[in-house]
Amino acid sequence: MGIFKLSIKFTFLIFFFGCFANCKKQQKNTEIKEAVLLQKNDTIPSFPKYLNKEYVLGKFDYTRNDDFIVVPESLSNKKIYIRKGVLNAFLKMETAAKQENINLTIISGTRNYEHQKRIWNYKWNEKYKKIPTQKRALKILEYSSMPSTSRHHWGTDIDLNNLNNSYFSSGKGLKEYNWLIENAAKFGFYQPYTSKENGRKGYQEEKWHWSYLPLSKIYLDYYNQQITYKDINDFEGAEFAKEIDIIKNYVNGINLELNK
Ligand SMILES: [Zn+2]
Repeated sequence: MGIFKLSIKFTFLIFFFGCFANCKKQQKNTEIKEAVLLQKNDTIPSFPKYLNKEYVLGKFDYTRNDDFIVVPESLSNKKIYIRKGVLNAFLKMETAAKQENINLTIISGTRNYEHQKRIWNYKWNEKYKKIPTQKRALKILEYSSMPSTSRHHWGTDIDLNNLNNSYFSSGKGLKEYNWLIENAAKFGFYQPYTSKENGRKGYQEEKWHWSYLPLSKIYLDYYNQQITYKDINDFEGAEFAKEIDIIKNYVNGINLELNK
């Protein structure tokens, strides 16, 4: 009996250290990958403390995470958190824009699962409650993500200046948009939700939404490797996630050029 107990303990220890070493290795690989990408983009490296399912599903407290920082008041319209490396890149972009009389203001940054769930459930239970259920999900999905499927969970994506495409189609807004199209990529920022004319699936075009690709690409890769429909749950209409194929059509429904 004594030997039996000992062998259970031993097996447990092997399992524990095996996993520990493996997890460490995985984290190291991610850090290296991120560092290489950040160096390419000439920004201060900001390694993720951890990269796990909870992170990409938005189920962590970004206000207590050292990798996150509050955007300076002068560059935002409320208290907004984003990843430090993203802010660093944004500051460079914003400075360059200002030299050409273009003002960039961050109006949304990191949103966690609970925040996204409030947005989603409000639209489900109030704004679009008269629409039959599956159609209702698709209606909300024109511009809002299901909780646990939003790029805003990652701290890499920001909304700039105005949440209406019409704002960016003339005058000041058009100038700002043209500047971003011309210059944002130099700082690592790309528009994931472009026009759907070329076959892109998912959300409608969002001219305000910009993603810091050196990091968001890592999170999307991880998402595609680790997340299944079992992980997307606990909100109104969650049962439609699989049917609509949210992961393929929406999480990956980004500008086709960014997948290369
Ligand atoms: Zn957005």
